Amino acid sequence: MKKFIFLLSLTIVLYSQTKPEINSNDIKYYIEYLASDKLEGRFTGTVGEKLAGDFIAQHYKKLGLKPLFNGNYFQEFEVLNKIEISNENKLQFIISNNSFEAKLYEDFVPLVFSDNQNSFAENGYIAGFGISKKEYDNLKDLNLKDKFVIIFDGLPKKYEKDRQFYVDLRSKVRNLIDKGAKNILIVYDVINNKKLPKKVELDNSPVYKNTAIFYISKNYLKNVLKNNKIDFDTLFNGYHFSNNVLPFELKNINVKYTSDLRRIYSKARNVAAIIDNNSNEYLVIGAHYDHLGWGEFNSLYTGDTPQIHNGADDNASGTAGVMELAEYFATHKEKLKYNLIFVNFTGEELGLLGSAYFVKNSPIPLEQIKAMINFDMIGRLDTLNSLTINGTGTSSVWKNLIDSVNYTYKFNISKIDDGYSPSDNTSFYAQNIPVLFFFTGLHKDYHRPSDDADKINFSGESVVLNYAKDLILSMQNKEFDVIITPRKKETRMSYKVYVGTVPDFSFSGQGYKISSVTKDSPADKAGIKGGDIIVKFGEVNVANIYDYTYALSKYNIGDEVDVVVQRNTEQLKLKVVLTGR
Ligand SMILES: [Zn+2]
Repeated sequence: MKKFIFLLSLTIVLYSQTKPEINSNDIKYYIEYLASDKLEGRFTGTVGEKLAGDFIAQHYKKLGLKPLFNGNYFQEFEVLNKIEISNENKLQFIISNNSFEAKLYEDFVPLVFSDNQNSFAENGYIAGFGISKKEYDNLKDLNLKDKFVIIFDGLPKKYEKDRQFYVDLRSKVRNLIDKGAKNILIVYDVINNKKLPKKVELDNSPVYKNTAIFYISKNYLKNVLKNNKIDFDTLFNGYHFSNNVLPFELKNINVKYTSDLRRIYSKARNVAAIIDNNSNEYLVIGAHYDHLGWGEFNSLYTGDTPQIHNGADDNASGTAGVMELAEYFATHKEKLKYNLIFVNFTGEELGLLGSAYFVKNSPIPLEQIKAMINFDMIGRLDTLNSLTINGTGTSSVWKNLIDSVNYTYKFNISKIDDGYSPSDNTSFYAQNIPVLFFFTGLHKDYHRPSDDADKINFSGESVVLNYAKDLILSMQNKEFDVIITPRKKETRMSYKVYVGTVPDFSFSGQGYKISSVTKDSPADKAGIKGGDIIVKFGEVNVANIYDYTYALSKYNIGDEVDVVVQRNTEQLKLKVVLTGR
């Protein structure tokens, strides 16, 4: 028995002692801690993220690596990481002397882009589906000033399957605001009569100023209208199945409401260390270490009971990769010519917040960064040795280098040219820095609670990292150029015209802020610059990136559009000639 205890304690000691060479035991040790339930999914700005950050910084300290930020391993900044629906939310319809108090969550709930308001409106309209197009206009000649407006979620029957016709909710809201609306009520999922959402999804874009926007349930509205002798079903069917398009006026109905969302900000931290080799050139090796927590944001999990999203592959694997490369290079300094920076970003899942903050507040001049290598999901190497490397078109040096180092490794490499593939490399490429992004492929556990450490191919990851290490070493002998290619998608939605702006995802003020513009793009030619905030695009007032996307959808290739940008304290009107891709 005694002997057994002795052996057990010995193995624990060995286990936590990592070795200089890149090996799967070390990788397993990092990932099993980072993806353990104790860290609760490492959601940006939470205790779990803090524990993970401490673990990484501790590792750099043990290796004797210098902190990157003025003697500090942490670069701290504030992020919005929670939006709470308070109990102050109220909605009440008043017909003559009867009032119909709506119950929060059961009858109504505010939308995430609703501003905090306390107001009252006399009379209003039911404006069908709230669509305003040439061929179908629910809002024709409508003036919604001082009135409330009710619209239906979704689309009229005949357009339901028409992808060309599709109108998203934000565009509907934008249309209503353009007609003067400040009190918008959207009947939630009229057709399936689904229950109202119990929470609002985290969203960094600003609210629509002075506008309250609620979802209301069909049953609640039905009851209110019945008391005013209006049959909801008849009305709805008219809009849904027949050609009824014009708004329906509601007289002698008043509405009183309070909308109140609480935005909660927390401190989040990037973690970084440097091997200073007295060079004036730097290589940045990075990975994000944050994940989805309990699925607060962007989760694909559909179950009812909340679960921890451990994010072993996404991205404990990449975090472990940066830690392991740091260990390798800390113990093999004689091989280095450049300075190496190891950085673990937070806030990636919330929209590349950590890397955006890093490049904006970089402790080293960005011009001195030769290249950035990003690891995001490198723990699932398959039996075919498939490895995806993004960003291979961002410098003319990459392809030959990738192939020559692969000679001994024999990976099946898919090279993807785009430097804007969706991870932290984007923030660097937007600053004209060549990038690579290593990725072992998507799987069914992606963004689900089942992305666990027991599914990681630790030895596979160690081969990927050895390959990356050799690539980094051979990069040191090359002169780097950067190839700038236009960004394919400026937001999640696609549209036909091209402007050439790269959004600043860390911006949460009014307007669409640009972090940089692509050289020779229409934006560049019009004189738009990085740091500008687009506040008006053609006829559309732009409060956020969604408005901007919506505005773009109204134009065609060749159109000349007046764009108003805020530059420091000035507003400038510039002309953009739109092109295709
Ligand atoms: Zn990721």
